[in-house]
Amino acid sequence: MIEIPARGVALRTETRQVRVGRVTIGGGAPIAVQSMTVTDTRDVDATLAQIYQLAAEGCEIVRLAVPDREAAAALREIVPRSPTPVVADIHFDYRLALAALEAGVHKLRLNPGNIGSRERTRIVARAARERGVPIRIGANIGSLSKDTLRRFGPTADALVESALEDVKVLEDLDFTDIVISVKASEVPMAIDAYTLLSQRVRYPLHVGITEAGTLGPGTVKSAVGIGAILALGIGDTIRVSLAAHPVEEVRVAYQILSSLGLRRRGVQLVACPSCGRAEVDIIAIAQEVERRLAQIRSPVKVAVMGCAVNGPGEARLADLGIACGRGMGLVFRDGRIVASLPEEQLVDALMEHVAVVAREKYGEETGP
Ligand code: SF4
Repeated sequence: MIEIPARGVALRTETRQVRVGRVTIGGGAPIAVQSMTVTDTRDVDATLAQIYQLAAEGCEIVRLAVPDREAAAALREIVPRSPTPVVADIHFDYRLALAALEAGVHKLRLNPGNIGSRERTRIVARAARERGVPIRIGANIGSLSKDTLRRFGPTADALVESALEDVKVLEDLDFTDIVISVKASEVPMAIDAYTLLSQRVRYPLHVGITEAGTLGPGTVKSAVGIGAILALGIGDTIRVSLAAHPVEEVRVAYQILSSLGLRRRGVQLVACPSCGRAEVDIIAIAQEVERRLAQIRSPVKVAVMGCAVNGPGEARLADLGIACGRGMGLVFRDGRIVASLPEEQLVDALMEHVAVVAREKYGEETGP
């Protein structure tokens, strides 16, 4: 039974811990945010530049496609210079997994059924175990075996059974440093699959909605799917899969985690949607505030409100807020009014206070 505490998010399902370089997954560790580079892995400089971009956004684990030997060779230069642990994504060729391990990757993502014979899996599992490198097994609705599809059809059960078959292969080889994902592009199926899986194993789960779509629709789908699964207490690491620049995946991941109160990074902006009562252009003000807050890393809560109905109340509850009236507004800090200013001066004043709070509360220097 799922225990729902007063705050509305189920207690986290207990899982084993797995180390991915210096990041811990599972066992109550903070839910780790992952993304995947879209550069050609063989292009070392471009790939490292993108890893640094992702790390600057808060990405904690980065996955790289390793489609051939050149890509595997590039890992030897990328891994030592990467600011985050690196996961090698391997399909078909077990020798690429061995080369990735030799290059020092911190995790493998592969499926035993996909790299040939059991003997090959044994060789990879032994090499991974020697280095303390975990393996993520991932069942994906788009790549289920013919046999699995024949037995279960394209269903949540098929995803779970397929993943568990691969888990069994590794367990039989005495390899248990495992993370599992069961990714569907349909949200209800994904929720079912992760729920079923979490009842069957105690390995940490990597949660995602595969091929979620472009930035706008994909964000909604990921937020609903990943959010619903996390709200059930399931999931130890997440990746948002968007047809967009991967930094967007990281931003969306944090928004999902922050919306559930599971993790915070960057400013939490509360903004009223505006209505006929607003006597300032509150949407433009909110957008300007959002744009200027984008560089702030501290978890400051800021409210931007259009009128006196909900404005002062929300502004008081936030670290900082503005509540507007006719052509003017009040600035709140820690629940108290600190200024009453004309509309055109509000955003500047708010930002000055944000910089002070970020520095004083969180030690962040935000620059001029
Ligand atoms: Fe409308 Fe005021 Fe509510 Fe904004 S805070 S939506 S302006 S009633």
